[in-house]
Amino acid sequence: MTQPCVFCRIAAGQIPAQVVYRDDRATVFKDIQPQASTHLLVIPNEHIGSLSEADQVDPALLGHLLRVAAHVALEAGVDQTGYRVVTNVGPDSGQSVFHLHLHVLGGNRLRLPLG
Ligand code: 5GP
Ligand code: ZN
Repeated sequence: MTQPCVFCRIAAGQIPAQVVYRDDRATVFKDIQPQASTHLLVIPNEHIGSLSEADQVDPALLGHLLRVAAHVALEAGVDQTGYRVVTNVGPDSGQSVFHLHLHVLGGNRLRLPLG
């Protein structure tokens, strides 16, 4: 039997992570290698490979992930100073974990350009 992916295992509580938010559809935890003072990952609890599968996903779940991103940004205290929400899709983006996740980055001035 193949192992579920690392983010499926975090969502299921099977491997440790610094979880800051959890509900029946989404889990949010601190990135293990933070790229900003605040670096959170918002994931769906069910396995979705990336945003490229969006047309097979309940649109309400996709909307929920964005609402959760805004909620945890508020909880982290970066809503007034600002933050960035990013999702990587496929090789050119450098996606390294193939379970949809939104990076929520903030707490310091973020670099540009993105591309
Ligand atoms: P990607 O490059 O796929 O957009 O982002 C994957 C992110 O997941 C990276 O920022 C990486 O540091 C983070 N990450 C990978 N494995 C783990 C893990 O086991 N635990 C946590 N907390 N973060 C992880
Ligand atoms: Zn997964």
